[in-house]
Amino acid sequence: MSPEEEKALLSEEDALSARPVQIVVAHEDDHAFELDEAALERILLQEHVRDLNVVVVSVAGAFRKGKSFLLDFMLRFMYNQTSCSWLGGHEEPLTGFTWRGGCERETTGILAWSDVFVVDKPDGSRVAVLLIDTQGAFDSQSTIKDCATLFALSTMTSSVQVYNLSQNVQEDDLQHLQVCVCVHARTLMFLIRDWSYPYEHPYGLDGGKSFLEKRLQVKQNQHEELQNVRKHIHSCFSNIGCFLLPHPGLKVATNPNFDGRLTDIDDDFKTELVNLVPILLSPKNLVEKEIGGSKVTCRDLVQYFKAYMKIYQG
Ligand code: GDP
Ligand code: MG
Repeated sequence: MSPEEEKALLSEEDALSARPVQIVVAHEDDHAFELDEAALERILLQEHVRDLNVVVVSVAGAFRKGKSFLLDFMLRFMYNQTSCSWLGGHEEPLTGFTWRGGCERETTGILAWSDVFVVDKPDGSRVAVLLIDTQGAFDSQSTIKDCATLFALSTMTSSVQVYNLSQNVQEDDLQHLQVCVCVHARTLMFLIRDWSYPYEHPYGLDGGKSFLEKRLQVKQNQHEELQNVRKHIHSCFSNIGCFLLPHPGLKVATNPNFDGRLTDIDDDFKTELVNLVPILLSPKNLVEKEIGGSKVTCRDLVQYFKAYMKIYQG
């Protein structure tokens, strides 16, 4: 076999084995976090990406709220950048983070997609795009602190944090943002699933904006604690957005045999999905990770991950 053939075969193997990799594990019994340094390095120190500035897009939130489902469409977009039909074929089952080969355990932690995408931005720069999934049992009291920590960790290591919430933004959801260290984060996007008041605030980014403005308003007669959370959030992120996504339909929500095919998903949902994903991932919208005002490479990010882990373990 020629070296070229060997290389082609290897990259084909890589593509085939693309999968979610657990990089941070939360041990619920002793509330400890563990970074799988080797796994992180295998992803970020690949030769073709390690010296590129990195864009880290994270989707965070509780289990069973459609994060993987969304991430799978984000993957379709990344793998079919040049195609206008990136959403996929009508009867094509959805794969990716939902990969059911026994690998996706319901483990609290951070998962990264093993393929790092290389994208040329319109300004001529070339960046590496890492997708991560931050998941935890955000709703149970005993683990709330762990999840807040996890959320902070992914917020600090990402350039865009998509906060995946069901139906509304509750006060608790905002409390989670309290622990984030301000200087590092850039963009926070609230993503409200199953939005059911489109007549009050329409689906999409504009409706999200008017909804969130109301929610994040600091009012004189508000309890001080509520005011502080809001001030903190405003000061942490240079860019805060909100997107209202409709319910995807009963087949998606309740049919155990649903495999992600487009024919089973409501049209309204697909329409909004086609708007949402490019807002997060189209080349012109990619936001590079910056720390202390400088862009960081994939290689740098490995070091930052290790440093932040130390802060939270200590
Ligand atoms: P994750 O645990 O947050 O990653 O959630 P999954 O992506 O695995 O989805 C959990 C369940 O919710 C699956 O049965 C999906 O088909 C379904 N689902 C996906 N997106 C949505 C949504 O926007 N709304 C509702 N109600 N269900 C969804
Ligand atoms: Mg998931």
